[in-house]
Amino acid sequence: MSQSTAVAPGAPVPEAQQDEFNPFLAMAERFDTAADHLGLDAGVRDVLRTPDRELTVAIPVLMDDGSLRVFKGYRVQHNFMRGPCKGGIRFAPDVHLDEVRALAAWMTWKCSVVNLPFGGAKGGVICNPQELSMGELERITRRYTASILDLLGPDRDVPAPDINTNEQTMAWIMDTYSMHVRRTSTAVVTGKPLNLGGSRGRREATGRGVMISCREALKMIGLRPDETRVVVQGAGNVGGIGALLMHREGYKILSLSDVYGAIHDPKGLDMPDVIAWQQKHKRIDNYPKAQKLSVAEQIELECDVLIPAATENQITSKNVDRIKARLIVEGANGPSTAPADKKLEARGVISVPDILANAGGVTVSYFEWVQDRMGYFWTEEVVNSRLEQTMVSAIEEVKATAKKYSVSLRTAAYILAIDRVVTVYRLRGVFA
Ligand code: NAD
Repeated sequence: MSQSTAVAPGAPVPEAQQDEFNPFLAMAERFDTAADHLGLDAGVRDVLRTPDRELTVAIPVLMDDGSLRVFKGYRVQHNFMRGPCKGGIRFAPDVHLDEVRALAAWMTWKCSVVNLPFGGAKGGVICNPQELSMGELERITRRYTASILDLLGPDRDVPAPDINTNEQTMAWIMDTYSMHVRRTSTAVVTGKPLNLGGSRGRREATGRGVMISCREALKMIGLRPDETRVVVQGAGNVGGIGALLMHREGYKILSLSDVYGAIHDPKGLDMPDVIAWQQKHKRIDNYPKAQKLSVAEQIELECDVLIPAATENQITSKNVDRIKARLIVEGANGPSTAPADKKLEARGVISVPDILANAGGVTVSYFEWVQDRMGYFWTEEVVNSRLEQTMVSAIEEVKATAKKYSVSLRTAAYILAIDRVVTVYRLRGVFA
């Protein structure tokens, strides 16, 4: 019998901490810093900080053993001033509402930084996919989709994969939505399989965007890719693919980790071999041709670039003094807490913030949505070159904003993003 986390309506759910580890407070602190630079008044700040809609749903699911369990799911739409909401769906045992709120707000700023015509949203279901069968996962996904259906639609809210969800999950969402609206609607989700309206290059897009961000930021410290030592936390869609692409470009990948542990080779990992091992064994910590480390030890390794690409709150006030990287490229959302950030900045460590560094995924999701609506599909070369253009021009704009306001790349990215949303908000006016 599955022991997966199920939460009955009204039952206690994982509580959000009201400290540096609360992602929504972390987002709000960065927002306030940027809003101060923009001189935003209290009313506009309130509008932009407050999520527009939050839906909590109970998801009854028939388990394989015949029992009935109720899971809890969320969809938060933070802001849709600039266009339909866009944002992933996460399946994890520790999902909580403040986390989903923060992730939704980050999506608003991320879409704005790379200038996509989208607002921000995020979804989550409290469950442990490792303990669920494919059938149970499919039933959770379909019922969750049906429960939030009124919020969804190609012109309303377009989900995508996030932690523990993938192309198959998106295919189930697309099918459930299409069956309800009585027509095939591919543009309702992105990150779909290729033969279901997916885009070429989407699977690699976030890792590719991380690589482009890293290359552009390295110019600020005068290093070339082939002389750069990199540590990557997380071996999933972002970290695993990012490390593989960077290895191909000549970077030395010293270490890679997954939730079970880290592997390390001072001479550089043979990334294609590591990924082949991972595909076979479903984990990398037992890869035999490298030293083993704990994830906590890994993040403190001597290196030039650290890429946290797993989850939130990995660089905190507890370990920041032992972080040795000169450049941090945030593949994950919210991997550094606000107090840690301040310490890194004071030490001259450059951080390419999440809302910029991992925006490659939503950029190609946008391309997928455009292709679905046109019914005409692009080659991988076209997708990759448009991604390159979008990322490079966003990075240039963030660097120019940092120079103009004499601030970090993170504050600059928030200033740029918030200013664009405020401009649209003022043009549209307040609907009464
Ligand atoms: P994923 O589920 O594909 O992979 C996550 C990886 O991190 C796995 O290898 C897992 O084992 C590992 N991991 C989890 N907790 C860890 C820990 N404490 N220490 C070390 N490794 C750990 O997820 P993903 O899609 O790669 O997403 C990773 C991060 O990137 C998340 O913060 C997500 O929100 C963000 N992100 C993803 C995308 C995307 O397109 N997939 C886009 C933008 C941002």
